[in-house]
This record gives sequence, C-alpha cells and structure tokens, in this order.
Amino acid sequence: MAEELIRRTAAELAGALTRREVSSVEVTRAHLDRIAAVDGTRDADGVATGPGVHAFLHVSAESALAEAAFVDAARAAGETLPPLAGVPIAVKDVMTTRGVPTTCGSRILTGWVPPYDATVVRKLKESRLVLLGKTNMDEFAMGSSTEHSAYGPTRNPWDPTRIPGGSGGGSAAALAAFEAPLATGTDTGGSIRQPASVTGTVGVKPTYGAVSRYGLVALASSLDQAGPCARTVLDTALLHAVMAGHDPRDSTSLSDPVPDVVAAATTMDVSGMRIGVVRELHGDAENGSGYQAGVLRRFDEAVEALVDAGAKVVEVSCPSFTTALAAYYLILPSEASSNLAKFDAMRYGLRVRPEGVSDPTAEQVMAASRAAGFGDEVKRRIILGAYALSSGYYDAYYGSAQKVRTLVQRDFAAAFAEADVLVSPTSPTTAFPLGAKLDDPLSMYLQDVATIPANLAGVPGMSLPAGLADEDGLPVGVQILAPARADDRLYRVGAVLEAALRGRWGGPLLDRIPEFPPLGG
Ligand code: GLN
Repeated sequence: MAEELIRRTAAELAGALTRREVSSVEVTRAHLDRIAAVDGTRDADGVATGPGVHAFLHVSAESALAEAAFVDAARAAGETLPPLAGVPIAVKDVMTTRGVPTTCGSRILTGWVPPYDATVVRKLKESRLVLLGKTNMDEFAMGSSTEHSAYGPTRNPWDPTRIPGGSGGGSAAALAAFEAPLATGTDTGGSIRQPASVTGTVGVKPTYGAVSRYGLVALASSLDQAGPCARTVLDTALLHAVMAGHDPRDSTSLSDPVPDVVAAATTMDVSGMRIGVVRELHGDAENGSGYQAGVLRRFDEAVEALVDAGAKVVEVSCPSFTTALAAYYLILPSEASSNLAKFDAMRYGLRVRPEGVSDPTAEQVMAASRAAGFGDEVKRRIILGAYALSSGYYDAYYGSAQKVRTLVQRDFAAAFAEADVLVSPTSPTTAFPLGAKLDDPLSMYLQDVATIPANLAGVPGMSLPAGLADEDGLPVGVQILAPARADDRLYRVGAVLEAALRGRWGGPLLDRIPEFPPLGG
C-alpha cells in the first residue's frame, strides 16, 4: 500500500483523499517512511553523511502528521476542502517557513528560524497541503548542481554518482525518488527547469510577478520567480494554481487574474498552434555547440511528436540569446551582491568573533562572519557584482548587460509574433558526475545557456521529460517558453507532448528509474 501510495500523482492522491479511500495521515506517513528509507542521514551540523538522496535539509515529521490528521478530521466532518488538501509537499529551503529552520543551503543562516511565512508558504497552508520539510539547494540558489550547498550535495536518483541539477536539486530529487509528489522551486536563471530536466521531472517558472516573492530569500530580485515542481504536467498546473496570484506585499506582483492553467493542462489540443524552434538554442552537435548529441535527438523527436499532434513548426531566430548568458552573469551578481549585504551578523544568523582580536569592531565581526558563513561561489559572485557596479566599470559592464537584456526582450517579442510558443532543449547535457564542474565555474554556468533568456525577459517556461539519452540512459528535458502572462500555453502544449511521449515509452519516464536503495556511498 505504502509503496503504491508514493508512486501516485498529486491529482490521483487528491481524488483518493476526496473519495475518502485513503487518509492524509496514511499518505503522509507513506512519504515520511520513504524519506526515512532513502534520504540518508546528516550529522550534528546538518551535513549529509553516508549514502542516500539527501534531498531534505529538514524533515517536519511531527507537524506534517498533525496537519494531515487535521485535514482528515475536517474531511470526516463534511467540510469542503481545497482540491489539494491533505497532499504532501516539499518546500525549497529558500522560502521562509514560520517556526521551521530556513538556511538557503548556507552556513550563515545555520539555526535561523523565521518568524513568518513566505506568501507562497502561506498559500500552501491555506490550501491545506501538508509540508513535509525543506529541500536542499545550492547556497543562496547559486549553482546548477546543488554541490554548492554548505550541507553537502543531493544525489540524482537516476544515478547517485551524478548531480540532480541546481539550484533546486533537492526538490527535483525528492520528486524523482518518490519522497514527495509535489515540491516548490525558485528560478532565477534555470533553477526549477534544469533540475527538472536532469531528473526526469516537470518544473515551471511562471511569468515574472505571477507568484509572490514575499518571503523568498532574494538572489536577484529582477529575475527571481517561484514556481511548481512535480512529476506530471497536470500536477504542476494544480500547484501553480495554488501558488500564483496578486500579493500586495510584493511590489512587482502582477494584478491580473491567474490564467486557467489546470484547464489548459486538460485541453489536449494543439492543432494549428505554431511551435517556434529557436535556432540559437538548438545547437549543432558537429560544431561543438556544447549540446550533447542524445539531448538533441530526444528534442527533435519531441518536436516531431508535436507535429504529429497537429502543431505547425516554424524556425525562429533570437540572435541576442548568444550573449544572454554573459549579461546574466553581470546582472545576477550585481543584484546578489546588494541583496546579500544584509547578512551582516548583527541581527540574525551566524556571528563569528575574529580570532586574536580582544575587542573587535562591528566591521571586524561582519568580515569574520561573512568569511566563515559564505561559501566560495557566493563570495565569487559578491566580488564580481561589487566590481561590475563600481564607478568607472558600471557603464562598461552593468550598463552593457542591461542593453543586452533589452535586446533579449525584443527578440522574444519578434519570435512570439511568429510562434505561439518556443521550444528548445532545457539543458545542453544530461546530469554530469558529482565534482565534474566544481573547479570550473564557467562550465557550470553554461548549463543555463537555454534557460536564462526567459528570466531576462520575464517570460514563463516549463521543462518536461523528453526521454533518455542513448549514450548514458539519463533523462533529457525539453523546454517550452510562452509570452508573458500566457502561462496557460505551457500547460496546453506540455500536456499534449507528455501524453504523446508516454505513448511511445509505454508509460511515465520515471517508471524506468533504476530501483534503489542502494544509493551510492
Ligand atoms: N544556475 C543558475 C545560477 O547559478 C541559476 C540559479 C537560479 O536559477 N537560482 O545562477
């Protein structure tokens, strides 16, 4: 029973809960047992030890079971409950959770227990979802492998020697390992879509402003967007509907109504839709574009599947996308260096006294705390950002990057005049081995080459499974992009593609995941 429960989709669980075939306590317990069986252990400092997925930094077993019992009681009393009431969910550790530790994968926030909930978390609670715990991530969401977490990496359930993507590798791995049916993520340059791509799951970055940023620990405020992660397109839509909506606490929050993403995910019709293949995001295996041959093969098949379903394919060109990555790695560090200035050891978080100083000044305490509390990647970006914003360099670097950002927006506008949605591989490669890119930040940054343009322009994007690459048997993701505020198109096209590809594979891609444990040492 428990094994069967953890394999169900959120939509299936919601149906069974509503019909009272199963209780939320049973569903929650099944997932907590799965976490206990496969997630592995952590030492007293919270650092991952031994084998295991290590998707979770914190598991709230007691409060999860209490909330589940509450939902069951309400249902038994005949209360009408929201659609996902009683379904468990994992929350990325970048979202503040009242009374539950929130570290953003950083030492500097060790032991911090927020006094308030992020708006997204509040909405999950109001919709009566059951919060299982907080998921691992690259420190302050900087990275594409979850290896920059101060608490040790998460492993990819498809192959425990490989990365689960980043920064939201914990959420994606929790889904792929059947530790949770739903999870949240944030995507500043690809942190929802790339982990989905390399774990064979589904992830959506909504339109900028569609989901409140209140209570998300900011990385780059003009790029950050929270979104849903799940194993199916429909489940992602159901969670999107819960997370999105106007929030007066976020000044960039959109005020228009949330598009009906759930209806779009069940329309199952793409006839006549124009699908734009972005030339600059397709690569060319022969000219060393960095796109793995097996990734391009699965992507091309996905496009064919859409044609078979009645869509029309057009090729579009977005020349600025080739410089988008460089612009992003100036804009992001600039904003991050400013956002992370608040971690000064004065009000909350880690405080370290400098060694050998008997009566340290506030500045000395700040310096010692930041030196000890931040990891190498965070320091690298703070330095890069401070440099890019310094007088004399501001116009040359930050100013030029903002101009590229405008060009990216124009290219999207032109492309969306010719196509209803755009498609590309999500990530140029499948999951790489742990450690492979740690000494080479630039090669790590290149993971985001196809996802970053959407963040620079604020348009929504989805990644869904396209199959397994022939050369390594690992998941490949296909990305769908839509115009701002047309998030429903992602779901309409994604649901048709998912159904067509499952028909070819004979079932969900995750049915092919090698059984575990064991999960590597
Ligand atoms: N991998 C990208 C980076 O390191 C994306 C980060 C994100 O989306 N949070 O910046």
